[in-house]
Amino acid sequence: MCGVIGVASLSEEVGGSLRAGGHKLIHRSHECIGAVTFDAETSSFHEVRGLGMLPEVLNRESVRQLKGRIGLTHLRWATEGALTEENIHPIRGTFQGRPFFVIHNGEISCRKELEERFPTYYPEVTTDTKLVAALIETSGKSTFEEGLQYALSIVKGTYSLVLLHENTLYAVRDVTGNRPLHLGIKENMVCVASESVALTILCFSSSQMREVEAGEMIVVHGDTLAVTAKAISAPPEMPRLLKICMIELLYSMYPTSIVLGRTVKKIRERAGWELAQRWRPQADIVVGIPDSGLAAATGFAAGSGIPLVVGGLTRYHYSDRIFYTGLGERKDLYRFKFDATEEDLQGKSVVLVDDTLFEGATIQNVIRICLEEGGAREVHVGIPAPMITRPCYYGTPTSSGHRRLLAGVHDGNIKKVRAEISASFGERVRSLAFLTLEEAKQAVVNTAPVLPNYTNITPANFCDACFLGGTRHIPVDVD
Ligand code: SF4
Ligand code: MG
Repeated sequence: MCGVIGVASLSEEVGGSLRAGGHKLIHRSHECIGAVTFDAETSSFHEVRGLGMLPEVLNRESVRQLKGRIGLTHLRWATEGALTEENIHPIRGTFQGRPFFVIHNGEISCRKELEERFPTYYPEVTTDTKLVAALIETSGKSTFEEGLQYALSIVKGTYSLVLLHENTLYAVRDVTGNRPLHLGIKENMVCVASESVALTILCFSSSQMREVEAGEMIVVHGDTLAVTAKAISAPPEMPRLLKICMIELLYSMYPTSIVLGRTVKKIRERAGWELAQRWRPQADIVVGIPDSGLAAATGFAAGSGIPLVVGGLTRYHYSDRIFYTGLGERKDLYRFKFDATEEDLQGKSVVLVDDTLFEGATIQNVIRICLEEGGAREVHVGIPAPMITRPCYYGTPTSSGHRRLLAGVHDGNIKKVRAEISASFGERVRSLAFLTLEEAKQAVVNTAPVLPNYTNITPANFCDACFLGGTRHIPVDVD
């Protein structure tokens, strides 16, 4: 999962906007950052890139190097290709002797086929994004845009791409719209970004933004800020139907971002409310696991009538990745991250609500903190999402590295999942509940839109390939 942002301005250099907008996408990646701008006056490109979080790499000093009024920034959380300097985006290509730059959120699923076609193309770069650059570079087309269209007619997989070639910015969303991408247009500035929250910080109002449609290419001419929208022609194997990632909605995106015309926080509240219609444990209070489980807990409390205790758990916000990696045991990490308020929890039966369940480490450690430090009598665990049982091939690192999907290990058997979660706590973990896939989809559909044009979303519009009962909608050529 990555964050992308591209900005073009008529009135100011864009380095500061790339930094500010990129900041609002930090939840999408802590691993590495790259930015490039084009200075039309000197016809030169300026780059800043490095491993680490955005504030470390794109700081006040380095951002001054980003001369020019058009550029892009990428925040990378690797799903394909190792975490190396060479794989930091933007990925550079050459078209008719001039450089161009590509950033990507998603995953190319015909990777094997393309790697065989380009065996010697920048071998030190191992990210799938370079294959898009290779296709453009070798397209033999007379214009860059034709080269890009050619590449998109070959590439299978999921992508929200932003490209910079000379003084022109291109933004493309694949025909399934699996990865989010927003467009903002106002006087003197055009911006595209993974989430609307990055546009909001740049003072775009909701009436000045819209989603880039699935299968749409946006072209922004830096010299005039003229914006044109075109259709892409994808290979026949790609389904022509919106299939947005459910995990983006339920877990990844920033709560105040707007997607499918709906506020993300409201989608999660609705999911919590739906869970309460199906599962009503005998409990005294509801506590959300901060931060991402808070909206779901609010909805669950509203739906169940069980009182919500805000701050029953508090999350520590004042340290960084480097400090956390310096801690010895993972148990210590969770003790640092979460504090329980004893007066709230002492002797209580607590419904703990989190947005999703991946490897189960967070929930196990939070249960320990509630029981041992908070003095809770017992807990129930509510997850207003379906069980995640399979890896993602479309760009969400749900099971990469050390991550093991708890529900996947137990093949979606809820009794076994509960047994593993409660292994150290026995009967003090009283119950565990999830939404079914259909219930979760219905929760999104039933969330009231705040923007027009999104009333026709149906349960068929969601990617569900990693959930119990889900199906793969795009063919993948690796195992
Ligand atoms: Fe999202 Fe799951 Fe689909 Fe991957 S498989 S895109 S995580 S819904
Ligand atoms: Mg969380």
